[in-house]
Amino acid sequence: MPSTDPSPPSSDFVIVGGGILGLAHAVAALRAGASVTLLERHGAARGASVRNFGMVWPIGQPDGARLAEALRSRELWSATAAEAGIACRQSGSLYLAHA
Ligand SMILES: Cc1cc2nc3c(=O)[nH]c(=O)nc-3n(C[C@H](O)[C@H](O)[C@H](O)COP(=O)(O)OP(=O)(O)OC[C@H]3O[C@@H](n4cnc5c(N)ncnc54)[C@H](O)[C@@H]3O)c2cc1C
Repeated sequence: MPSTDPSPPSSDFVIVGGGILGLAHAVAALRAGASVTLLERHGAARGASVRNFGMVWPIGQPDGARLAEALRSRELWSATAAEAGIACRQSGSLYLAHA
């Protein structure tokens, strides 16, 4: 029987957008024990996250905190892809020309 309670369900976080950024934040919040409501305007994500080249490429970051953060992001992506059964080939890259 449908609920007659007119108030929307409450969550610790409401995230707008089911692309990689929205999902990454949702997963992090859930792993930390918080509850999440994810709002996606389409039936499935249709933005840049499903139209990109698929490269997890931590380039162009200066040494230090930014590079460490990029490498940590790559590590998280790799672990999450393995958990979700998403193919992730570690092939390295070769940057041939800048201009
Ligand atoms: C051609 C191309 C190639 C790329 N290649 C790479 C690559 O190889 N490697 C890489 O790291 N990055 C790449 N990028 C960049 C990367 O894809 C984006 O930075 C990333 O996907 C952005 O993620 P996002 O979650 O912010 O946005 P999106 O994936 O665009 O997700 C936003 C979501 O929010 C939803 N939304 C928007 N407004 C609302 C609303 N008002 N209410 C509810 N839902 C809403 C949209 O429907 C969408 O699903 C590429 C981008 C492009 C365009």
